[in-house]
Amino acid sequence: MAAPSKRLAPALAGLAPYDPGFTPVDVLLSANENSFGVPADVRAAMTEAVAGLALNRYPDPMGNLLRDDLAAWHGVARENVVVGNGGDELLFNLMLAFGGEGRTLVDCPPTFSIYGLYAQLTRTNVVRVQRDPETLDINYDAVMAEAANADIVMLTTPNNPTGNLVDRGWIERLAASTDALIVVDEAYVEFAGADATCIPLVQKYDNIAVLRTFSKAYGLAGVRCGYVIASEDVINGMAAVRQVYSTDVCAQAVARVAAQRHEEFQPVIDLLCQERQRLLDAFAEMDGVRAWPSAANFILVRVPDGRQTHQALRDEFSILVRDFSGSADLPNCLRITVGTPEENNRVIAALKELVAR
Ligand SMILES: *Cc1c(COP(=O)(O)O)cnc(C)c1O
Repeated sequence: MAAPSKRLAPALAGLAPYDPGFTPVDVLLSANENSFGVPADVRAAMTEAVAGLALNRYPDPMGNLLRDDLAAWHGVARENVVVGNGGDELLFNLMLAFGGEGRTLVDCPPTFSIYGLYAQLTRTNVVRVQRDPETLDINYDAVMAEAANADIVMLTTPNNPTGNLVDRGWIERLAASTDALIVVDEAYVEFAGADATCIPLVQKYDNIAVLRTFSKAYGLAGVRCGYVIASEDVINGMAAVRQVYSTDVCAQAVARVAAQRHEEFQPVIDLLCQERQRLLDAFAEMDGVRAWPSAANFILVRVPDGRQTHQALRDEFSILVRDFSGSADLPNCLRITVGTPEENNRVIAALKELVAR
């Protein structure tokens, strides 16, 4: 683990380089990637699209052709879409544009740790409204109350790492109740069924911004492309602060193919949802393992000794999952990405053996 730099600005003191905790293994289920990758036909079209690109020319800064494809897919206008170098960059830009010194973000931990990091980087105050330790649901009343005095409310649905949804009817009531920007992070929404998305609410509420990514369901984590759908006013704010050329020509071309052919990813998404249920059924049979229901492509489990189980999975079974056992919010918890049927078989067999020891 690298040490923090002694030259960091005081507000950033203690920050160290991000360590994704990767180790070479056979079965990589730690980052919620899609183990299947892109369907072969679609992949061939992406290769062709990239082969013809002029790499000596700057990309279209806003990625307007990609914006048009995304707008057509989601039934909005180009002016309602901004693209970025992965969802992470867009989260940073949201806080840069609408947070900052003297502004407040409402966060609902345990959730994606990037929100807290970017709040710190942009000097945004954070109000933490803790989830119920048992159900892992957000505290709806407390979030609604805090939102009245906040500038940004961060809602993740399905949430990472807990896998549960935020009630959509409540999100609508929240948006109506406050001027704060409600950011709905839908990085995993494709695994939650066709009705889960809040994109239809964007037409009605100019303070809802929906974040989507090609990294998870669409198997393109390496390409770094995501987008936000929101009112023209929110999109203009984000466009004003973004790194002008952050979405490169290759990413734009590849993402256009994925957007145009998004329906061809549905069979793999459906299979991953079936496999999620198969894993949940298997975990339910194991003594000492608690698994929370999930609407995403991962499952949060609690085991008797999280750290030891994580290490044994890695070192004895060559399976890497995400270890949350050190966090105060999720003691002894691991997050296991749903993989291919073969990968999931290995997870089931290994965990069965480990908890029987
Ligand atoms: C993975 C993820 C993202 C975005 O990932 P990118 O690869 O940067 O697009 C955003 N939010 C959550 C909760 C995620 O888990």
